Amino acid sequence: MELLIIFAFLAPVIVGVGSVVALDRPMPEPKVLEPEAPTPEPEPEPAPVPVEAPTVEEETVAEPEPEPEPEPEPEVVAEPEVALEKPAPAAGRLARLRARLAKSNNVFSKGLLALLAQDDIDEDVWDEIEETLLMSDLGADPAMELVDRLKERVTIEGAQEADSVREMLREELIAMVDPSMDRRLAATRKNDKPAVMMVVGVNGVGKTTTVGKLARVLVAEERNVILGAADTFRAAAAEQLTTWGERVGVETVRSDQEGADPASVAFSAVEEGIKQESDVVLVDTAGRLHSKANLMEELGKVKRVTEKQAEVGEVLLVIDATTGQNGLAQAKVFTEAVNVTGIVLTKMDGTAKGGIVVAIQRQLGVPVKLIGLGEGADDLAPFEAEAFVDALLAS
Ligand code: GDP
Ligand code: GDP
Ligand code: MG
Repeated sequence: MELLIIFAFLAPVIVGVGSVVALDRPMPEPKVLEPEAPTPEPEPEPAPVPVEAPTVEEETVAEPEPEPEPEPEPEVVAEPEVALEKPAPAAGRLARLRARLAKSNNVFSKGLLALLAQDDIDEDVWDEIEETLLMSDLGADPAMELVDRLKERVTIEGAQEADSVREMLREELIAMVDPSMDRRLAATRKNDKPAVMMVVGVNGVGKTTTVGKLARVLVAEERNVILGAADTFRAAAAEQLTTWGERVGVETVRSDQEGADPASVAFSAVEEGIKQESDVVLVDTAGRLHSKANLMEELGKVKRVTEKQAEVGEVLLVIDATTGQNGLAQAKVFTEAVNVTGIVLTKMDGTAKGGIVVAIQRQLGVPVKLIGLGEGADDLAPFEAEAFVDALLAS
């Protein structure tokens, strides 16, 4: 067992899953496309977030695996040469970005509050309350539970002023979102090696974007970060990640070969991270393969091969919040293939319904650690139960 230091505040974690890799393609000849360039020196703002360093026991994933002949992998270390933007502080982002939460969430602030503030709430009204909750993507069981809790309180406490109804709803929603879940990110070196995070999820959910935004948060926390472009299906995927790397001022390890072995790219990224004594290696992965089984097998392999070098302390599953219960069903497959440690819920600025947070945590048993609230570089916020519920009730 080893101790992992983790961000106490909810460090945003993003995992990018990119394109698909053909597993059966032969390894391309190793080739270093670019000469070594001097390490870029990003000048992040001093970390404004109090980064506590609680220690967390984490299982060590030193898998005794047969060591195959290491295959040298093509690798390109892209050098940032763009003027670096200054990241906004991560702490309190959720509160600052609350206006971004979709207007579609006003079922909580308008519909529900109005229904609950009536003098006499009969069964029809309770049915209406339950339907409203279902429309918020909360899921059937949580919606029923919440109605039961509210019923109980209304029965005991009687009819309420609008303000106390709001407070009651706030308390019950916070309880459903579960403030006791551990939402810290494993973003600190462990065993003299970088913290490795993999970002997984289906195509188009926002993996690559999340890796970029997360790298930015980490850089703002004065962490040294390396990106690994293990989505090798399309050249464009590595290009997109490299662009993010340049923007943030961190190196991107990639292959110049379409269809290169993603496990090999991830291996190289971690190798580079070890060499440079980086704090964090963020590995973007593919979201689509020729079949779902292929993709899951590939992700398992990326993790396995990566762990020959360093433990993968965080596997972030990215889910597009606007896809509701469908997205959730798709995402479930990933939790069976890799040990998912956190959820990144993207596109909460769209038509997403806030209840999806509760549904995801219930069905996957994994905490939402970060939420995406836009396409901008600073539009990723550590998830906080209370700030989130306050935002819902304010919208
Ligand atoms: P398997 O295909 O599931 O048996 O997985 P392996 O453990 O054989 O690794 C598959 C791929 O991961 C290899 O083809 C390499 O691309 C990569 N890999 C594994 N070990 C190493 C290593 O030590 N160095 C490098 N660069 N790549 C490795
Ligand atoms: P990937 O295929 O999972 O790597 O997805 P990408 O990172 O390429 O993102 C797909 C699209 O979603 C891009 O157009 C992103 O700008 C967009 N996107 C990602 N996160 C968010 C978010 O939080 N809000 C919004 N509105 N768009 C997002
Ligand atoms: Mg991608």
